[in-house]
Amino acid sequence: MSTPGTAERPLCIAVVGAGPSGFYAAEAALKAPGLNVRVDIFDRLPSPYGLARGGVAPDHQKIKAVTAVYDRVASDPRVRFFGNVKLGKDVTVEDLRARYDQIVYAFGCESDRKMGIPGEDLKGSYSATDFVGWYNGHPDYRDFQFDLSCEAAAVVGIGNVAIDVVRILAQDPEVLAKTDIAGHAVEALRKSKVKRVYLLGRRGPVQAAFSPKEIEELGEIERADLVVRQEEIKLDDVSKAGLSNSEAKKNYDYLAEAAHKGAGTKGHKIFSRFCVSPVELIGKDGKVSAIKLEFNNLTPDGKGSVKASGSGKFETLEGVGLVFRSVGYRGIPVAGVPFDDKAGRVANDNGRITASAGGPVVPSEYVVGWAKRGPSGLIGTNRACSIATVGLMLEDLKAGKLAKHAVDASIEATPRLLASKNVKAITFAQWKTLDKLEVENGKKAGKIREKFTRVSEMLDALGTLV
Ligand code: NAP
Repeated sequence: MSTPGTAERPLCIAVVGAGPSGFYAAEAALKAPGLNVRVDIFDRLPSPYGLARGGVAPDHQKIKAVTAVYDRVASDPRVRFFGNVKLGKDVTVEDLRARYDQIVYAFGCESDRKMGIPGEDLKGSYSATDFVGWYNGHPDYRDFQFDLSCEAAAVVGIGNVAIDVVRILAQDPEVLAKTDIAGHAVEALRKSKVKRVYLLGRRGPVQAAFSPKEIEELGEIERADLVVRQEEIKLDDVSKAGLSNSEAKKNYDYLAEAAHKGAGTKGHKIFSRFCVSPVELIGKDGKVSAIKLEFNNLTPDGKGSVKASGSGKFETLEGVGLVFRSVGYRGIPVAGVPFDDKAGRVANDNGRITASAGGPVVPSEYVVGWAKRGPSGLIGTNRACSIATVGLMLEDLKAGKLAKHAVDASIEATPRLLASKNVKAITFAQWKTLDKLEVENGKKAGKIREKFTRVSEMLDALGTLV
């Protein structure tokens, strides 16, 4: 048998997850000089693009334009897309091992972290991930219901996801209606009674994880005032030193200007609060009705930043009927793929899968993106991350370090497997048909795109057309 990677025997790579990091891994493999390669990209949904479709906010269309790059990758004749195929359900890791020389896990972080406070499981308390998936029309969240009949909502955490959630809650729904926001979400937002949104940071403005552009966008919402308390953005010495970071300085300057402006006169308010931690969600009739906060003291953490600790002084925000925790995503274990439970991601050494956290390398298996690093960085960060992992894959190939088991590398191996399991895989051409329909349906509704929000709807649409 000739070595994988040659004209007679191309290297067969399976990429599991058609989000940004999966496409960047495929792109890097295709670009490897002198390598003869075939890449099959799997996704559990019929639609590709991962968080570029289901995570990026509907009013951030420019960011979504990155999908044109993924389309180019998918249109390479060496690439196939198998949508609607779930690892752990429709195919197993063993199935992939038997058909591919190398496997790249690119399935991101599909869950979220908890706050771990009393009342967190009351009705009205959600993860930001749920809300994001819901307004972006992700099929997993199609049947979620968010009761927007209260006047106040709180978003815990001050990262970019938190800002997205605040913006969607505070923005005029007619502005959002023109985007690709899910139809069911815009309908619910039109009926929303939410007038006050609290953005709650446990540390100070210099430690905020959001980007300057994001906080500025909150200040630009026409119907809402961004309200900042002067006393909550006073800086300790460590935070003052932190202003040498240009992003932190821009954030701080913007917030200081907002604090200077005062509360304003607009009907909707976004209260950006700092140095406060939720300690309890208070319920009435099983539903959140208020949130109790503790003011924090910031002290040096010995690593150049500050840590927050409770001051013993409290404040209760009454009338808060909705709470979104936005304190970071977390991976979920996938059958057959080693998981590092402590870190909340796939067990790996710089992208090479390990049998357990810190354990021996599992040959021929790799990981990219959030499943590798945890939930950090912007979309572009994943490109460098995937390129680095593919570099290791090629290094292992060259060093003869691939797994020793037999691989059926025939082009028909995977379609045959899926047919034998009665799995209806969606090709990229079929996705493009759905894409075209979404855009056409959007046009009729006066928006950029009307997404299919159920897998069954996507399959039905294809069934009647193909
Ligand atoms: P993130 O950037 O890690 O922010 C998490 C926030 O939660 C931090 O402010 C953190 O505060 C806070 N937090 C953590 N545990 C907490 C607790 N127990 N109580 C209170 N606060 C707590 O996470 P993310 O917002 O989910 O974003 C994930 C990644 O996606 C980021 O890299 C982000 O930039 C990216 N993203 C980008 C965009 C965009 O570019 N438009 C949009 C969405 C997401 P501490 O710092 O004190 O830990």
